[in-house]
Amino acid sequence: MSYPHLFSPLDLGPITVPNRILMGSMHTGLEEANGGFRRLAAFYRARAKGEVGLIVTGGISPNRQGWLAPFGARMASSKDVRHHQEITAAVHDAGGRIAMQILHAGRYGYHPFVVAPSSLRSPISPFKPFALSERGIRNTISNFARAAALAREAGYDGVEVMGSEGYLINQFTVPRTNKRTDEWGGDIHGRIRFPLEIIRAIRQQVGQDFLIIYRLSMLDLVEDGNTWDEVVIQAKAVQEAGVNVINTGIGWHEARVPTIASVVPRGAYSWVTARMKKEIDIPLIAVNRINTPAVAEDILARGEADMVSMARPLLADPELPKKARQAKPGSINTCIACNQACLDHIFERKEASCLVNPAACREEEFAIHAAAAPKKILVVGAGPAGCAAAVTTAERGHDVHVYDSASRIGGQFNLACQVPGKADYAETIRYYAQRMVETGVVLHVSTEVTAEVLQTGGWDEVIMASGVRPRRPTIPGMDSPKVLYYDEVLRGDHTPGKRVVIIGAGGIGVDMATYLIGGGDQTDHYLDEWGVDDSLSTRGGLQPPIVRPSGRSITICYRSTGKFGAGLGKTTGWVHRMHLKKNGVETFGQVRYIRIDEDGLHAEVKGKPHLFPADHIVVCAGQVEQNDLVGICRERGLPVHVVGGARIAGELDAKRAIEEGTKAGMAV
Ligand code: NAP
Ligand code: SF4
Repeated sequence: MSYPHLFSPLDLGPITVPNRILMGSMHTGLEEANGGFRRLAAFYRARAKGEVGLIVTGGISPNRQGWLAPFGARMASSKDVRHHQEITAAVHDAGGRIAMQILHAGRYGYHPFVVAPSSLRSPISPFKPFALSERGIRNTISNFARAAALAREAGYDGVEVMGSEGYLINQFTVPRTNKRTDEWGGDIHGRIRFPLEIIRAIRQQVGQDFLIIYRLSMLDLVEDGNTWDEVVIQAKAVQEAGVNVINTGIGWHEARVPTIASVVPRGAYSWVTARMKKEIDIPLIAVNRINTPAVAEDILARGEADMVSMARPLLADPELPKKARQAKPGSINTCIACNQACLDHIFERKEASCLVNPAACREEEFAIHAAAAPKKILVVGAGPAGCAAAVTTAERGHDVHVYDSASRIGGQFNLACQVPGKADYAETIRYYAQRMVETGVVLHVSTEVTAEVLQTGGWDEVIMASGVRPRRPTIPGMDSPKVLYYDEVLRGDHTPGKRVVIIGAGGIGVDMATYLIGGGDQTDHYLDEWGVDDSLSTRGGLQPPIVRPSGRSITICYRSTGKFGAGLGKTTGWVHRMHLKKNGVETFGQVRYIRIDEDGLHAEVKGKPHLFPADHIVVCAGQVEQNDLVGICRERGLPVHVVGGARIAGELDAKRAIEEGTKAGMAV
């Protein structure tokens, strides 16, 4: 497969990029870590070597008030310049180009010095901002210009001015957060004065031959956001003020519309950029859920944008552009939009990485070295942990054999990809299948590992990635035909009836409810359910949601006292909870299960008797380890590494499974 539009050079004015792939800005947490700039240099070098057309760094603040969190990265002095030079040198050595994003958090900052156009607290930070004075505004503008000049001194090819996602500039541009009555507020012309003066000041400092990208909020997705006409006025004005490229911003962080979670169909927002293409002349960048070269190529081929931005997909695979250019899309490790190791980590104030690529942001720690002496390795299980172990071990030159009793690789991911919004999980299975071929792993599917296989295989070491099996709670009546297990349902062995009770409110209980609600991954369906106005005729781009009834009554029960879905990811839990609520799913905590019979599930809820009438009861009560062979290996003196769910089923997730598998592969 070739991608002619993706791989045609583009003149951005001050620089020309060799392909249309922009690595979008993403905070990694390394910006503030000890020795973080060395690690950031390695992180960006890997992406430049992978042939990314243009990299944009994570957001760097122009001053202290603009910090996202206390002691966040700043570009304000020559000391900062020295740190950043490590990054720019690494990228340029690898043949890449890089721009620094200047981000002032405004009222999104998580510290007491926060400022904003008006003193209105955001729903996502406890700190009430100070309204900027006229002098404060002038200082902030010159701090933006200073940051850009220092970025140039540090060797960057340009800057991106962050004007979207609800940060300070965006707070100025919309009526929701700008209540000023002076010349920095009022109508759209007053509200956009702040970004225009920033751009003019930057241009004056850096000259004409330095790239300026402006990230424009094209769709705020909050009440009292801008109208489309106001967005167009802003786009034309920033073009006039001297920016070279406009990047698309979709949705504020406080918006109650998911814009990058896995429920968002691929390329779901390219139509917004396409509308803007009709209005302005400079290059435009499309964003959000563009995670494969094919999606990117289609957007470019349709003329909807001049470049595409990918952030998380380049965490997942730094070599995505190179593999696409070499017509090897099957070898790309695709981002599955889970947010579990990238955005969730950042919101938990941890360093970012990637669920499908644990080496992301830890390039030095996860460097793969050839084995000193090749060994014959048995990997038991071809779920995510076993696949990661197998390909890592084989990459190092070992002779690797993988066994799985199922007829195909993928383990629990084969179930996950049946859930609406999780179709991308199939990409991980495709990637591992391809990598096994490329690295020479010998695959034995539909084959049990017996004592004889262990005895006669001539193995030097074993990696036990035999996974988990569903927990079977002991409730009277569990042998009723009404009782189904989640794996049977997701495999399609049984179709539950119209009234379903789910036992268990963990990730799989929530996935089961989503599966039973149904619905697909189509863009129209998603826009309707989340109330996005694709006619662009309303303020902020919001309209009343339209939910299509699923025809099923679904109830989720759990025993504990905590809030429903408390263990779900920080950045995606609210999406799942809202989806279930919109679709009428009821949840009951503090449930004591008494028995199951033809009427349904008899229980006590908060100490009071309660019957949950049900056609089917689907058990999603966690898992237990499946590792019976470990003892046999040890008896026979075979060195065995136990990874993933086979090691500990509790708190298992694919992030731990893939990381443990990879580390085992590095250790043999
Ligand atoms: P889980 O998160 O451990 O949840 C198990 C559920 O079963 C809990 O709600 C628990 O709640 C209940 N339970 C446990 N023992 C029980 C028993 N003996 N009888 C009745 N109920 C019992 O397990 P999971 O849902 O199977 O998920 C497995 C892993 O996959 C988790 O780590 C999860 O994070 C991950 N996962 C994540 C996602 C995601 O979207 N991020 C999606 C799917 C899976 P009570 O003890 O309160 O009853
Ligand atoms: Fe994508 Fe998940 Fe990796 Fe984040 S952690 S980059 S969402 S695959």
